[in-house]
Amino acid sequence: MSINGEPLRKILELEDKKGYLDSAVIGGLDRFLRNWAGPAMESITGPRLLSRFHKLHLVDSDYAALTKQERKEWVKKVLDFLTEVEHKEEEKGEAKPAPVAKKPSPKARVPRTTVTQSIDSPITVVKGVSSSLATKFDKLGVKTIRDLLYFFPNRHLDYSQRKTVSQLTEGEEETIVANVWQAHEVRPGGRRSTEAIVGDETGNVRVVWFNNPYLARTLTPNMRIVLSGRVSIFNGRHVFESPEWEPMEDRELIHTGRLVPLYPLTQGLYHRQVRKLMKAVVDQWAGQVEDFLPQEVKERCNLLELPQAISQAHYPEDEALKDRARVRLAFDELFLLQLGVLNKKRQWQEDQPGNPLSTETAVLNTFLESVPFELTAAQDRVLKELLADLEKPQPMSRLLQGEVGSGKTIVATAALLMTAANDYQGAFMAPTEILAEQHFATICQLLSGVGHLEEQEDYLHSYSGLLSRPLTVALLIGDIPQARKRELQQRILDGEIDIVIGTHALIQKDVEFHRLGLAVVDEQHRFGVAQRSTLRQKGFNPHVLVMTATPIPRTLALTLYGDLDLSVIDQLPPGRQEIKTKWLKPTQRDSAYAFVRREVTSGRQAFIICPLIEESEAIQARAATAEYERLSQEVYPDLKLGLLHGRLSAAEKDEVMRRFRSGELNILVSTPVVEVGIDVPNATVMMVESADRFGLSQLHQFRGRVGRGQEQSYCMLLAEDPSETGQERLDIIEKVQDGFQLAEEDLRLRGPGEFFGTRQSGLPDLRMAKLSDVALLELARTEAEKLFQKDKSLENPEHSLLAKELARVWTTEGGEWS
Ligand code: ADP
Ligand code: MG
Repeated sequence: MSINGEPLRKILELEDKKGYLDSAVIGGLDRFLRNWAGPAMESITGPRLLSRFHKLHLVDSDYAALTKQERKEWVKKVLDFLTEVEHKEEEKGEAKPAPVAKKPSPKARVPRTTVTQSIDSPITVVKGVSSSLATKFDKLGVKTIRDLLYFFPNRHLDYSQRKTVSQLTEGEEETIVANVWQAHEVRPGGRRSTEAIVGDETGNVRVVWFNNPYLARTLTPNMRIVLSGRVSIFNGRHVFESPEWEPMEDRELIHTGRLVPLYPLTQGLYHRQVRKLMKAVVDQWAGQVEDFLPQEVKERCNLLELPQAISQAHYPEDEALKDRARVRLAFDELFLLQLGVLNKKRQWQEDQPGNPLSTETAVLNTFLESVPFELTAAQDRVLKELLADLEKPQPMSRLLQGEVGSGKTIVATAALLMTAANDYQGAFMAPTEILAEQHFATICQLLSGVGHLEEQEDYLHSYSGLLSRPLTVALLIGDIPQARKRELQQRILDGEIDIVIGTHALIQKDVEFHRLGLAVVDEQHRFGVAQRSTLRQKGFNPHVLVMTATPIPRTLALTLYGDLDLSVIDQLPPGRQEIKTKWLKPTQRDSAYAFVRREVTSGRQAFIICPLIEESEAIQARAATAEYERLSQEVYPDLKLGLLHGRLSAAEKDEVMRRFRSGELNILVSTPVVEVGIDVPNATVMMVESADRFGLSQLHQFRGRVGRGQEQSYCMLLAEDPSETGQERLDIIEKVQDGFQLAEEDLRLRGPGEFFGTRQSGLPDLRMAKLSDVALLELARTEAEKLFQKDKSLENPEHSLLAKELARVWTTEGGEWS
């Protein structure tokens, strides 16, 4: 049995350095020793060691009373004792020391202790992991043994096919087993390197390790080694350049001759070191991981056992097992994710009763008859789905997807109207203030077709004729004068306002409702579980409708919004035409300007989007202003141009948008703020500068700003010097009109992280699962649903490990999944 001498050793060495002043540890050495010695003593079983241990008087030391000289002698005695103990430990641990054993310095080793170790212990309990090594792993997010087991390689090198020297092929990654004939230091170009000649029964080959002179001493003649690496040609002969190597012994290979893992590294970590450590950890610990998946799920889905999957993911026997390991681990991630979202949905819907809202058919019909068009079949179907949800006592939790221009606003307005008809309040939230203002204008316009504008104050309209009382709609945004804002807030709290339109700030702070019945969240894919909980924490349990024009691929929708029901408006209003999209070369800019002028002359309007320079609004605003001035003075001195950017006050933005919508302005020069939602049917040209800098979905959103009326519309994309992926995007957007197809392409090109902008997307950290794994995701979803039906709260004893695992991933990962 062994003791952990490392902390004591460190302190004694420090004490030595500091001159024996009893200053190495706060509170004095005696106190430290009393704490250390107890457990240490318990872990010593050998009688001889134990008696020596007692002679040192570590349990009842009186270091403080010793003279300097006595202290020095005592410290030396204890250090010698520790070294001896550690050596014993080493001999036991390394039954077969490597023939080329570099003498490990005793200090570098932390002896294993028998103090309770579990897979959640810090990695320093692993033999060979010093605290400085642990710090490096910490940078990679690895703190515990479990983290290490789940610290998977980025990929594997396939060194599994052994060749003979005579079979080597130039340019290939090859593996051979050979004898070392000679090895010596060489200095090609002044670099201290090692050169060796190795061979087998078929021939000899030269090997060079650049910048590594030390190997010359390690590789002794006749040693048998395995080499894996690229073969090149030098002076007409084969040579291995800096291959991986290891001695051929009767233990498992780690670096060569197999599928060799390549781990993500950070400064101060090396492949050989990490591989060696990982092999030891996997061998010792993988078997102790508890498999939390119910047996029947594993059988039905033909999954590997968890310990096997973990070890095969690191050191696979072959490609097939490596793949099965990945499938098992990916399934776990997706399955836990789905169980988690299902659980959230259950909490949302069951824990608190919602507010059933009845459909007031008369009010609804009056409203629908008053709008100047008929609902499309898809709008009609989705509206029915919403109304059915609203009638239920559980709160609605629904995602409404609809292509740009598919007409989501009117559907949401109808639902808000039903909410008001039931004497509940509704909130309509947009991602930006400009959009909130536009929604306010749109909804007021829709209502004015049927109601009679009773009262009009700043930011508040009230309509009679629809309900038995006036229906009030208010806009609440940051730019409203404080006094007015407080007044509106008070009236919302008093329940005098039926529909409040604003940004997310509506629910996040400031505003208290009297009786919130429905919250609509528009054009926003980041309104996740956390935001919905905010609503509940405020004491509401409203129906929630999340609307997005970003067509989220099904896999992502299930992942991000697995707790929402899904409605899709998959049809555009009639008469919409394909928007002709063209990617233009810089030399075609003048003809693009001329084209804009022609459209304007025939009564249409145009958007010109300025390049995305930086995320900073201030910088973008400045760039847009400069571009606006250039265009107004040099290109279109005779036309009316407007400028829109995020730095304008709400009143200014409002004014610009009003003038553009009314046709007073011919061209709107804008930063990318115009991206979502803006609706001006007479605009037929969208010109985007530096189009290669935008993602596909964003370009599609820009394009969706035109083609909203009856006229043929155009989208012109300018790019100075697009990168290869930039070109690929521009090619795709030129050809593809369908938003869903574009979203899939976007996801493929950019990956889910960037697809959603930032990590705040709430996207869980999937290591093994890929979002392109549709089949696996659906399998996980189905299995999660099955389990959920049988044992919703995982109370069944055979699900207790699963319940534990679920609790672990959904709470400890820094709130990532919560
Ligand atoms: P989005 O789904 O992008 O938010 P909007 O709700 O802004 O789309 O609607 C886009 C445009 O289509 C608006 O001008 C709206 O008035 C119009 N619209 C909506 N539904 C219909 C319909 N059924 N028929 C004709 N036009 C419609
Ligand atoms: Mg919209």
